[in-house]
Amino acid sequence: MATSSNNSPALLDIAEVSKSFGSVEVLRSVSLQVAKGEVVTVIGPSGSGKTTLLRCVNFLESYDSGSIRIDGKEVGFRDGGARQRRSERDLAAMRAETGMVFQGFNLFPHLTAAGNIMLGLTKVRGKSNAEARSIAEHWLGRVGLVHKADSLPAELSGGQQQRVGIARAVAMEPKILLLDEITSALDPELVGEVLAVVKSLAEDGMTMVMVTHEMAFARDASSRIVFMADGGVSAVGPPKAVLAAETTNERLRTFLARFR
Ligand code: ADP
Repeated sequence: MATSSNNSPALLDIAEVSKSFGSVEVLRSVSLQVAKGEVVTVIGPSGSGKTTLLRCVNFLESYDSGSIRIDGKEVGFRDGGARQRRSERDLAAMRAETGMVFQGFNLFPHLTAAGNIMLGLTKVRGKSNAEARSIAEHWLGRVGLVHKADSLPAELSGGQQQRVGIARAVAMEPKILLLDEITSALDPELVGEVLAVVKSLAEDGMTMVMVTHEMAFARDASSRIVFMADGGVSAVGPPKAVLAAETTNERLRTFLARFR
């Protein structure tokens, strides 16, 4: 069985995943194991395949070869055909195993904060409205927004919307949370409140894979950093080791120079 860096069985096991769009290979035999409770940040230049990798884990994208397993169970799909054979309801249930939060806030504009969280709980998890409301309030409390339960997204700041997005993802009790540049669209003064929520979920043991340009967060809050370049994993390891690897890894040095 694949093991992660700390030798416990991997919760997420991405093994030699490759993917092309037409003639462009965007993932080149990417392997990554993530243990339960780990927070893995993925950094790298634009176009290096970070988003595509997360989308493959969350079934938003098929891949050409390799395998993706969560808890030993194959989760992604290798070809477009497999997608057609699965009902939307099945796909929604599978995606809920891997909650995903995006750069754009992606909240349904006509639903309140609580309504956004309740939707998946009632439609996918089969909860009653009352149960779903109580779970929604719990998670809104967890992200400091219980007083905004009945506000529409347009009435919330970007940071608050993103916190609702995180609450919506974790309310589904995913085994792993995928965060794709969730602070990139935010005004700088709102970034901190969103990262604080991510940090507190990490402290509670939530397993996370997070694509980010927040180097300070990657350095201080992650168990490991993955540096992707040209569709491959160019460096991986504890933050200190990866950040020190720039002495031997020129692509990493060029990338990190932008943040100085
Ligand atoms: P990153 O997240 O690191 O910026 P992406 O995973 O978004 O990188 O993109 C990797 C490469 O794949 C880029 O060259 C991008 O243009 C290409 N790509 C991404 N999505 C598509 C698509 N749906 N069709 C064609 N090319 C795509």
